[in-house]
Amino acid sequence: MGYLTATVQSLYTTLRESLRTPSTIEYPKVKRVRAPRIRASFALTRDAQGDENCIGCKKCEKVCPSEVIAVTMAKKPSPVTTKARGYATDFTLNLQACIVCELCVQVCPTDAIIMVKDQEKPGYEREDLTLTMDRLYRNGESKERWAWSNATILGEHQKPPEAPKPPAPAVAAAPAAAPAPVPAPEKKEGA
Ligand code: SF4
Ligand code: SF4
Repeated sequence: MGYLTATVQSLYTTLRESLRTPSTIEYPKVKRVRAPRIRASFALTRDAQGDENCIGCKKCEKVCPSEVIAVTMAKKPSPVTTKARGYATDFTLNLQACIVCELCVQVCPTDAIIMVKDQEKPGYEREDLTLTMDRLYRNGESKERWAWSNATILGEHQKPPEAPKPPAPAVAAAPAAAPAPVPAPEKKEGA
């Protein structure tokens, strides 16, 4: 009897749950509306002339707590200015262990690495989660995808508030005028 009751209860629960509006969505076919400040993946940027902003300084690699960034650097002439400068010859960011702390963005001296609003497509292989330099530059091609901030803006936000200025010292009051001398009493004649 207990077995029958349990079976009926299970069927009832299954039927009740199957009629409820699901709280899940079929991502990536359906995408939820995200918060405006969402930061989901990464991109490398270029300057207004199309030259790479990344100078290969490795600051992002050194600061990354998950050690998922690898940069190799070399000096070569810029195709824009023809002057020799540092470039990343290879740049990879492995999303598998990234904790989205954004420290790599905050330390970048040239605003070269930024975060983007769009999530990467779900991957089926481990390699799908490795952002190569090509992928990172492709991610940076549309400014529409860029997240709200870069290192410069984040630095402005982190500046300590200016200390209130001390009040100006009060002007010292002028010394009171010395009292006028009292004239000596006139001597009377014959006194
Ligand atoms: S956001 Fe990811 S890649 Fe960047 S420093 Fe943090 S863990 Fe490393
Ligand atoms: S992305 Fe920025 S911090 Fe990283 S190597 Fe390039 S210039 Fe340096």
